[in-house]
Amino acid sequence: MPCCPYCGWPDDDPVTTVSRHRSAAGATVWTRCICGSLQTRVQRGAASVVCARSRPAADPAATL
Ligand SMILES: [Zn+2]
Repeated sequence: MPCCPYCGWPDDDPVTTVSRHRSAAGATVWTRCICGSLQTRVQRGAASVVCARSRPAADPAATL
């Protein structure tokens, strides 16, 4: 099972959904892990795939 490389939290269980954007190809979802790592997910049908992630709390301005 894919998980966060920084804290080991499973990708299947996003902690905080930051925002969600609809697009023609599906939806893009931004989530934040418990360690502060921001993740970009692409929704494909029932599955959401993490396609990018930041380092934990790398940007102080993004810590809300
Ligand atoms: Zn994490």
